[in-house]
Amino acid sequence: MTEPTGGIANELAPELGVADWRDAAGQPLARFGLAEMGGRYQVIFCFQHNCPGCHQRGFPTLQRLVDAFRGSRFVRFAAVQTVFEEYEHNTAELGFADQQRYALTIPFGHDAGPDGRFSTLMQRYRSGGTPWFIVIDPQGVVIFNHFHIDADRLIEFLRKAEASDPGDAPAGVLTWAGVLRQARDGNPAPPRRDERSAAEWQRQLSAEQFYVTRQKGTERAHSSSMCTLFEPGRYACACCGTELFDAGTKFNSGTGWPSFTQAVAPDVVAYHADHSHGMTRVETTCAVCDAHLGHVFPDGPAPSGLRYCINALALQKRG
Ligand SMILES: [Zn+2]
Repeated sequence: MTEPTGGIANELAPELGVADWRDAAGQPLARFGLAEMGGRYQVIFCFQHNCPGCHQRGFPTLQRLVDAFRGSRFVRFAAVQTVFEEYEHNTAELGFADQQRYALTIPFGHDAGPDGRFSTLMQRYRSGGTPWFIVIDPQGVVIFNHFHIDADRLIEFLRKAEASDPGDAPAGVLTWAGVLRQARDGNPAPPRRDERSAAEWQRQLSAEQFYVTRQKGTERAHSSSMCTLFEPGRYACACCGTELFDAGTKFNSGTGWPSFTQAVAPDVVAYHADHSHGMTRVETTCAVCDAHLGHVFPDGPAPSGLRYCINALALQKRG
């Protein structure tokens, strides 16, 4: 699913925050959320009873998806009436009646928010209305969040994912969900700290190195021969010399910047949410001296699925 165009796509899935649930048989449920939902992939359909598009397209799409994965432990579904308008026509009773109307044997929720006017789930997922589809991957990351989903493509994507599901990444390998958690909740304590003044760094570094590492600059793509260098060895921080990446995790991304799948240790690279240039990205820095290294993206190869996109000027190669 490479077109997650709306809401909080590529972010960690927040808890649904829906209090009122019926189980797959229509009986009241005391508690339901992402943990209770289970499955490797989770699909959540948001609707309002009085929304014509939900009945014309949303529910028929959901029926096709549920039929395709009936009894699956790999893909799990839930539907939630996310109320934000026409309150007298989008009551809990009318929402739950749609479960029977469409013979959907999946949990149904009703969510008008604490004030009965605006769904909590809608606010947390920043959905744009109804009908709305949310797809969450095995790492708990929202990979699709939009009005319309192509059922055929989603079914094909999920069947392929099921056939090639590698299980969780090996223990100790940081994945995109872990990167997002660190960027949100804070990074582990670094092995040591090196805090020098800007003037001191300026004396030690070349003008280009200073611009990239201390002023969050970006070198031109394909400007360094380091991109095509795959000799064994370690890549250390150009500022403080802390070893950051091993050549064994370097790969040819074709982007024009040195690319790695993981850092040499969990505490040497720090992660920060970066909202500059109208994008939400994750910046990487040296945890020891705060040098700007580059960014990390969730489109890398196994085992981490990460692509550390690092400025060659921020690194020094060691044999
Ligand atoms: Zn450093």
